[in-house]
Amino acid sequence: MARYTGPVCRLCRRFGEKLMLKGERCSTPKCPLEKRNSPPGEHSSDRGRSRMSERGLQLQEKQKVRFSYGVLERQFRRFFAEAKKSPGATGETLLILLERRLDNVVYRLGFADSRAQARQIVRHGHILVNGRRTDIPSFLVKAGDIIKWREASKKTEYYKTMAEKVDGKTIPSWLTLDKENMTGKVLNLPSKNDIEAGFNEKAIVEYYSR
Ligand code: SF4
Repeated sequence: MARYTGPVCRLCRRFGEKLMLKGERCSTPKCPLEKRNSPPGEHSSDRGRSRMSERGLQLQEKQKVRFSYGVLERQFRRFFAEAKKSPGATGETLLILLERRLDNVVYRLGFADSRAQARQIVRHGHILVNGRRTDIPSFLVKAGDIIKWREASKKTEYYKTMAEKVDGKTIPSWLTLDKENMTGKVLNLPSKNDIEAGFNEKAIVEYYSR
């Protein structure tokens, strides 16, 4: 299944939740969900989610997480399979694996306004992990990893803008950021509590358990 390329605000309206897919705009009154909170489509207000089947709700939760992290279905299944093999609760492990993706870490460190933007930065080779150019968005970071910008990339206008904006960003406790040098470090692996979005990971496990 291809990556969703339609209007991302439509996804938030479909799920009735802010998935924060559009960067800075998401935290401003310009966010359409601040004005209206109904699923997209004509006469949509009468398509209440209360009428959705249990299976439909599980699918919706899986899609919500998948779109939030910008992951393709086959990648998502791969992450799920890996979570299932790992010790601990599968749903929580799945969310932790997604959170450890390099594109997500670049976003969390404030190097990008959205995960989609972070994915582009990684793909274009602007990011080094432990000194090595790493252009794979799904690369999983581990405790102790150092994430920083390639020296040549620091000359770009994009970098300068982000370096100015990074002061106002909140960094999760499992990461640390040297703002002056725009260098991040993974202090420890994230836990479920570090993932601020209220995902129902048990519904995803149930969805794939059928
Ligand atoms: Fe979702 Fe952001 Fe669009 Fe608001 S602005 S609907 S949070 S993507």
